[in-house]
Amino acid sequence: MTAALQILIGGAALCGGAATGAVYYATYAVRTQWLGPAVWRGRGDVSSVALTFDDGPSPDTERILDILEQCGVGATFFMVGRHVERHPETARRVVACGHDIGNHSYSHPIYLYRRARETYRQLARTQDVISDVTGVRPTWSRPPCGVRTRAYFDAARALGLCTVQWTVSGLDWKRRSPQSIAGRVIEHAAPGSIVLLHDGDSAGKRDRSRTVAALPLIVDGLTRRGLHVSSLTQLIHTPASEA
Ligand SMILES: [Zn+2]
Repeated sequence: MTAALQILIGGAALCGGAATGAVYYATYAVRTQWLGPAVWRGRGDVSSVALTFDDGPSPDTERILDILEQCGVGATFFMVGRHVERHPETARRVVACGHDIGNHSYSHPIYLYRRARETYRQLARTQDVISDVTGVRPTWSRPPCGVRTRAYFDAARALGLCTVQWTVSGLDWKRRSPQSIAGRVIEHAAPGSIVLLHDGDSAGKRDRSRTVAALPLIVDGLTRRGLHVSSLTQLIHTPASEA
């Protein structure tokens, strides 16, 4: 395996899986476009990065919202449908605070191991749950662990969902210190980077206190590097005048 390929699939290594070779690359590699279009970074002509949070909402989402508010920055939350049902008030607060939201499946399955019909149901059910709870129907989707299949792209297309992966992961799903999470993000971020963090746990078991503690360090460190935190919308949409 080449170093470049190792980097490409590295972000998805958390989920393991039995797939091998080309199938593994096509479905797990964060940046590959083999099976369908996926945004993995934004425009690089502005000194901005976007923060994204997966697997919530959870009780820790409330603390993350507090910090984002104190820092005066926006973020995007890719929500798990069943967690939205458990924490509807938090999901509504995310929207009320002006943050963007996306579809991160209903129960966080790896789509590679699901039939096409189940994949579609995961996406469609979550669209309905998020829409019913928050009043907003997502236009973005991030599949669990970034794993994409043909059936996933068929479903996303049918539901009008654009797929958003990431450029830099804080690896906060590992047991890392807040300083380690922040250090990794600050070191690897560049203009246009989409940063992956977690405000919840897919199984709803582990807390995200380390991510909460890392967040002020991340915003501060990015600012010191001359990088502004902007919304995903601003980062991936080219103004019409420049199109
Ligand atoms: Zn996830």
